[in-house]
Amino acid sequence: MKLNFCSLSSGSSGNCYYIGNEFHGILIDAGISATSIRKFLKDMDVSIQSIMGILITHNHIDHIKGLEVLTRKNSLPAFTTFKIWESILTPHVRISRDCIREIPLQQKFHLAGFDIEAFPVNHDAPETIGFHICAGEKKITIATDLGHICETSAPYIREANLLVIESNYDEEMLVNGQYPYYLKKRIQSDHGHLGNHQTSDFLAEIINDNLSHICLAHLSKNNNTPEKAIKTLHETLSERGLVLNSQLQVSVLNRNKPSDMIRLIE
Ligand SMILES: [Zn+2]
Ligand SMILES: [Zn+2]
Repeated sequence: MKLNFCSLSSGSSGNCYYIGNEFHGILIDAGISATSIRKFLKDMDVSIQSIMGILITHNHIDHIKGLEVLTRKNSLPAFTTFKIWESILTPHVRISRDCIREIPLQQKFHLAGFDIEAFPVNHDAPETIGFHICAGEKKITIATDLGHICETSAPYIREANLLVIESNYDEEMLVNGQYPYYLKKRIQSDHGHLGNHQTSDFLAEIINDNLSHICLAHLSKNNNTPEKAIKTLHETLSERGLVLNSQLQVSVLNRNKPSDMIRLIE
């Protein structure tokens, strides 16, 4: 069995992730244009016909920009909770009934050969979820857009072999940057985004031998750099005397181009 992961785009301007096996694939979020998603999949040699559905984390535009077109033109079903559907389906967004799939929170469902569970996270949308995706023994957790790692989401994050976790902003850049005060407060709040130190502190607590890949995700364009996110993580780990296992790969996902394909099972 194969298990591949690739980020097509990650950041405050658009998010879309691919997980696939030798037969099928799924997308998590469709926050860039449908044209870009189709092009990136083609470049990766993944046929759009192999995609069995799109899992949606919440209603912000950087997660649903290409959703309407992908459901309409490629008849792709999309999966999210009732509450998130309610927040997505406005008079401006028309998605065919046939493509709407409602999923429960914290109950496994099966799609494209994967066992998938949605878990709630704290964020400033009517509802926001992360996904825990199991393929045999391997587990991938996607947790972007969360202001705080709560008791409910932490176990799903701890269990991952491959973890996609937000490291949205550098605290100093945000505080000294151009954003208005209310927006800075919103981003820093428990319902905003995770800063580099928050993410690094949490990772320092949970790093274990089963974790083989950390992908730092959803970096802010204006308030972070990949170098700062990685540096903060390394400094936090070394302050605590933690040495990274040589098997553990840490990367920062690109904002505007696909990452390398990570092959969890060859
Ligand atoms: Zn976002
Ligand atoms: Zn968001």
